[in-house]
Amino acid sequence: MPVRGKGMRCTACGADTATLETRRRNGAIYRRRQCQECSERFSTRELPEAALKALQAQCSSLQRDREVLRRQLRRAAAGLPIGEWS
Ligand SMILES: [Zn+2]
Repeated sequence: MPVRGKGMRCTACGADTATLETRRRNGAIYRRRQCQECSERFSTRELPEAALKALQAQCSSLQRDREVLRRQLRRAAAGLPIGEWS
């Protein structure tokens, strides 16, 4: 029996969603959700605030690494007969 949404909105249309399934794994809570309006289904994962902060920090670090690598490649390739990349 689906539980009516507790504030989570549909990622497609923004309407209220119902929870079809809830699972706990590795300290996180996974929910399978379905939109009450358009029937879109998607999953959410709830993490404790501290774990979420750690994940965000890791993501920022990877993005910085990516930018550094991009600059280094651009510099290394300067003047070589290869096309530009985005
Ligand atoms: Zn929807």
